[in-house]
Amino acid sequence: MLRRFGPLAALAAIGLTACGGSETGAVAPDTSTAHGSSPLVVIDNARVFDGERDLGTVALVIRDGRIERIEDAGSDALPGDAERIDYSGRHIIPGLVNAHAHVGNTEGTEHGDRFYTRDIVVRDLRQFQAYGVTTLVSLGMNGAAFTDIRSEVAGDPELGAQLFGAGAGVGTPDGAPPAANMGLTRDPVARPTDADSAREAVRMQAEAGVDVIKLWVDDMGGQAPAMTPEVYRAAIEEAHRHERLVAAHIHDLAPAGDLVASGVDIIAHGVRDQPVDAALAAAMRDAGTGYIATLQIDEANYIYAEHPEWLDTPFLRNALPAAVVSQWSDADWRATKLADPATQRARDAVAMNLRNLGTLREAGVAIGFGTDAGALPHRVAGFAEHRELELMLQAGYTPQQALTVATRDSARLLKLDDRGLLQPGRRADFVVLSADPLADIRNTRSIEAVWQAGRQVAGPVAEYAVD
Ligand SMILES: [Zn+2]
Repeated sequence: MLRRFGPLAALAAIGLTACGGSETGAVAPDTSTAHGSSPLVVIDNARVFDGERDLGTVALVIRDGRIERIEDAGSDALPGDAERIDYSGRHIIPGLVNAHAHVGNTEGTEHGDRFYTRDIVVRDLRQFQAYGVTTLVSLGMNGAAFTDIRSEVAGDPELGAQLFGAGAGVGTPDGAPPAANMGLTRDPVARPTDADSAREAVRMQAEAGVDVIKLWVDDMGGQAPAMTPEVYRAAIEEAHRHERLVAAHIHDLAPAGDLVASGVDIIAHGVRDQPVDAALAAAMRDAGTGYIATLQIDEANYIYAEHPEWLDTPFLRNALPAAVVSQWSDADWRATKLADPATQRARDAVAMNLRNLGTLREAGVAIGFGTDAGALPHRVAGFAEHRELELMLQAGYTPQQALTVATRDSARLLKLDDRGLLQPGRRADFVVLSADPLADIRNTRSIEAVWQAGRQVAGPVAEYAVD
């Protein structure tokens, strides 16, 4: 099965052309204080993990936003007329590819569709980028401005992580996504009732230019009607007719098997109610169905109440609006959160999610990287991704394997063959670290700089502040 995003490749090209500058006459923003404003840059003396392998200490030659070639560090073959950056003692990894996140959905401790404005979306994309995420799929609940913002950001990497996404997505009448819980005051989600209306909803979203069709298939613990097989089968078929990938939100094992049999491309959350069985694993492996566990999603419900001392670390605190810091600093808030029966259910969900990720990975299922960050205030853009990497080790990954999932494999899942690896011909999207992430996954937090499309677009994360 070879599905691809419709307009993705074209948009990626726009981003790089604008970066290169001259070909389209696009006006680049002032980058006089940033590195990489020239078309030819040499990144020398860093130790590079390319997404698959530790290359050792090398030099990356970057031309017009892409890696042209990789040479020995300090080589005589390096171009003399390039801007040269010496990253001695630093470590470089590819920019993270988050295949399940959200933007424009939160403000302080509040959330809802009323926050989907250009400025809030860009604020979120810039935060993800500052934390090393250079490609992001906003998987549903996007407002009407999505396609315009996507084009703007594709043309100017300094605005934030490159954005792809579903539009509003396709859900269920009186069901998921729950309009009231998600603050959908002018509910933008299509909620078809039969095969014909499902096809119509998908056709309209595809024609509006979304990259991926998002389906919610979840009865919310038996509390709501779930999307019927008739509806999701028609939606998947119609999406594929329009050459769009289909990603399905699920929570439980029950719908997973038939979704896979119906051709869904990506299961966009982990199975959290019971162990996955060998038949599902084999079906996913054979069909090439991708799986994004979003381990952090349930943990985020309680972990900040459990660890108030995390607020003392700039890496978390810098990612939080003042109102959230204030809420999480409140002892009453923490006590209420920890006493809530939902907290134990969330802990159980994390344990089941970890177990199932281990099972599916061992069975050879294609695993991608996502967090659901940005959907709610406690799903913290940027921080969630580094916590997800850390949690992946509890499912049996080594640091190197977890990073491969978050870069190469996640890009592969999205059919984005221009990124995810630091190899000749690919985009120069990478993160500069002061400590070795292969030795300790928590070293991905030591971000000194982020480069996207061949330019430095963010500095030390220790100096990042929420707008
Ligand atoms: Zn989501």
